[in-house]
Amino acid sequence: MQEWEKLLGMKWPQNACDRSGECCRGAAQLAPWDKLIQQAAEGSQTARNFLSQYIPYPNRTEALLNAPDAVEASLEIARLRGDKEEDIIFYHCIYLKGQSACQIYEDRPALCRDFPESPFGAIPKCCGYSEAQKQCMDKIDAMKTELQRLKALQASQGMTDA
Ligand code: SF4
Ligand code: SF4
Repeated sequence: MQEWEKLLGMKWPQNACDRSGECCRGAAQLAPWDKLIQQAAEGSQTARNFLSQYIPYPNRTEALLNAPDAVEASLEIARLRGDKEEDIIFYHCIYLKGQSACQIYEDRPALCRDFPESPFGAIPKCCGYSEAQKQCMDKIDAMKTELQRLKALQASQGMTDA
């Protein structure tokens, strides 16, 4: 069990993927294609793994047409992190046939097997994991509210942090 699962008292689902292909059609990176190639040439295994299966869309419009939920989820995360939306580049997988058929499903890379690992990344709203993500975020919001209530109570009693 991961630390955040213990803290939230929740278990992240293991088999909620319905093989929609949305994440395969809308992978996001802060790095453009040529930068990834440079990183791979300099020894980055992460860049090599990514380049071995993804190619970039010619523009944002194409990405939006093919994977609207994945694009929106990544842009939302970018906003939260303070990244510039225009710096996000969208890619699609070369192993996808049609909208959702993975041609190497039984041998798909760990990146795909493990996605999404937690509720803290970009999860498309159509994804089978999005409901679990919402439950986690609702729980975090409730914990934040409770923390604020306790701080206000502490302040009203004239107590301060040690
Ligand atoms: S978006 Fe979610 S449900 Fe669709 S293929 Fe990816 S992990 Fe599976
Ligand atoms: S290898 Fe298969 S599961 Fe992974 S992104 Fe490509 S099409 Fe999707």
